[in-house]
Parts: sequence; structure tokens; C-alpha cells
Amino acid sequence: MATVLIIGAGGVGRVVAHKCVQNSQTFDKIILASRTLSKCAAIQKELPQGSIEIAKVDADNVSEVVALIQEVKADILINVALPYQDLTLMDACLEAKIDYLDTANYEHPDEAKFEYKEQWARHEKFKETNLFALLGSGFDPGVTNVFCAYAQKHYFDEIHTIDILDCNGGDHGYPFATNFNPEINLREVSAKGRYWEEGKWIETEPMQVHMPWDYPEIGLKESYLLYHEEMESLVKHIKGLKRIRFFMTFGESYLMHMKALENVGMLGIEAVEHKGQKIIPIEFLATLLPDPAFLGERTKGKTNIGIVAEGVKDGKRKKIYIYQVSDHEKCYAEVKSQAVSYTTGVPAMIGAKLMVEKKWQAHGVYNMEQFEPDFFMEELNIQGLPWKLIEL
Ligand code: NDP
Repeated sequence: MATVLIIGAGGVGRVVAHKCVQNSQTFDKIILASRTLSKCAAIQKELPQGSIEIAKVDADNVSEVVALIQEVKADILINVALPYQDLTLMDACLEAKIDYLDTANYEHPDEAKFEYKEQWARHEKFKETNLFALLGSGFDPGVTNVFCAYAQKHYFDEIHTIDILDCNGGDHGYPFATNFNPEINLREVSAKGRYWEEGKWIETEPMQVHMPWDYPEIGLKESYLLYHEEMESLVKHIKGLKRIRFFMTFGESYLMHMKALENVGMLGIEAVEHKGQKIIPIEFLATLLPDPAFLGERTKGKTNIGIVAEGVKDGKRKKIYIYQVSDHEKCYAEVKSQAVSYTTGVPAMIGAKLMVEKKWQAHGVYNMEQFEPDFFMEELNIQGLPWKLIEL
């Protein structure tokens, strides 16, 4: 039994709150805190009366977060605010002496570059304080890391190549919208592509490398090579790996809009002066775009995210595909969120559950593939994200 403090009342925060309530045998007290209290209140209203408490907090302010942790006597903090808050929230956990979990690695608001360096640098501090920080417990990163660990444990002596394949076959009916925080999403997909081969990172132009992939239950979709953060930890932890790539599908309309917005400077992260006021173009664009937290009601279709791993077992070549399909409408019916938030929020709750139940135990800062994958794979089937494994 534990008291969980969820920070961030966006699309993902809503799912984490619903799922923690569904698992009240593990989380006996749940507090949802965010910058805008009314967003927490809206989520609270969807849940059985008295099942969660809410609070207002600025996650950029360490002492404010420490005070809240102490006031509610939290045992674990789930960070589903934005990647910009990772370091302050980790520092607040260190100060208040509680465990930490997030779903996306740290990114500085002024530089569109995300990496684990500064979070991993806190390993010794977490270790010395006997605390546990679990990084990237969403779907990708998150479940994709666990799929790799599961493949390594049960199917291979050595994995040589991994392709992570992320398809959102859903349609929300808008000409252009992003399925999670627009600023974070657009920074990610407009950046240069990068993959790892034979010990080196190879950079590509944005959307330069692409291939069609036939996603079970969705169909053939053009898939584009992007840099994605789980590769940074997987290259350290998967035995014998020679190449890892990440692909994501985009529709033609999305790519056309994104190119046009980029061409006119709307994806810029540096302030421009407009009528005497400083405006950051991508922040202004995020204000104009539909709020992903409200796309759920309109979104139809499915997501399919998985990994294809190839390598050797007992001297023979082997290739497997592990994937998970979610239906946007089913997710909405259950927790009032579309599948992108659902597939992120459920693994965040599962990660916290395994930490609280001490099935995953450590002191320091760790990534998902460093733990026993079977517990997590079982929970995925129980908590609404059933997966499939096929040999190719
Ligand atoms: P949203 O923008 O919908 O929600 C973020 C929430 O955090 C908002 O409620 C926002 O408050 C709150 N917040 C932002 N800054 C602060 C702050 N300083 N103090 C307190 N609260 C703050 O994002 P999503 O729910 O779509 O995404 C949440 C996280 O999940 C992101 O880090 C994203 O990168 C990650 N993610 C991970 C995925 C994975 O598979 N691993 C996939 C998708 C997302 P306000 O409403 O006031 O702005």
C-alpha cells in the first residue's frame, strides 16, 4: 500500500489517475497535482467520489514540490508533466526522500535535444539515499524497452538488430493536431533522424529514411526513421546489438502541414519580437492547436507499437515481432482518453505498481530494460495492454 503523487493533469495524467484508482489495493491514497487546478478538478469529477485528492503545484519549483510531498506524505512521485520538469522533480524526490518515475527524458526548453545524461548523473545521489528512480515508463520509451528485455531473456542468445515500429492509425478528424503535447511532439519529429549501427550514431535529414510496414490490425503504412530516446539506453543494455532504429508512421496531411509550418518558422523555439512582445513560435502554435487531452472523444482507429528483433539462438538465426494494438474508442470508453495517452499512462501506473510492490527494486537511476521483464509483461495483459508475439 502506498501514497502516490501524480504530477501533471494532461492527457497522460488523466489515464494514470484512472488506472491508479483501478489499482487501489496498491495505491491507497492518490493525489493529482498540476499547474492548473481546474484540470485536476475535471479529472477528479470523472472518478468515484473521494478516490483522489487534488492540489496545485509548480513542478519547476523544487521547494514547492518538496512541501507538497511532505504534506501529503507521498511514497512515490509519478512525473507526467513535461520533460522540462524531470530534473526539478528528481531533485525534489531526493530532498523529500521518495522514489521517482517518469515517461520521457529530460529536455531543456531552449534546446530541442533530449538525452539521459543529466538524469543518469543523479544515479549516485539516488543510490546513496537508498532511493529508486525509474526512467521512461511509458510506451516508447517504456514498454518497447521491456519488449527488448523480454526478447533477450526468452528468445535470443544475442540480439543483432532491433527496429522499434510505432504506428498511430487513428483519425481525429482535424486537418492537423498532435496526439500528445504539441510542443514536445513537434520538436521530436522535426529534428534530424538518428540511428545506431556498429557502435556509432548515424544522422539523417528529418524524414529522409522511410519504409512501408504492414502493421497487424491496421495495414500497410509508410514509416519514417526518427531519433527516439529509448535507443540511448538500449544500446548500453542489449547484448551483442549491432543496429537499432526507430520508425514512426505519419499521414500525408500531417507531413504536409508540418513542412509548411516549419517553412514559415512556426516550429522555432527561439523568441521572436511581435508588436513589442516576445513570442516563441512553437509555444504560440501549441496554443492554436487542439488540446490533445480533448482528442479522445473524436478519435477512431487503432495504434500498434512494437519491436522486431533479429539475432541468434542456439546457433540459428531468429526473428520475432512483439507488438501491442490499442483501440482509440475502447480507451476513451474506459478512461476518457485516446490511445496515445492510454498507452503511456497504463505503463506509468504499472511501473509504479512494480516499484511499490517491490517486484522491481533498486537504489539509483535505472531504465526499464534493466529489470525482470516478465512481471511487467504479465501486468500489461491484466491492465488493458495485451500484447502478441510472432516469429517472422
Ligand atoms: P500535456 O501537455 O497534455 O500535459 C502536461 C501536464 O503537465 C499539463 O497538465 C500541464 O499543466 C502540466 N505541467 C506543465 N508544466 C508544469 C509545471 N511547471 N508544473 C506543474 N504542472 C505542469 O502532456 P501529455 O499528458 O500529453 O504528456 C505528458 C508527458 O508524457 C510528457 O512528458 C510527454 O513527453 C510524455 N509522453 C510519453 C510517451 C511515452 O510513450 N513514453 C508518449 C506520450 C507522452 P497545464 O495544463 O497547466 O499546462
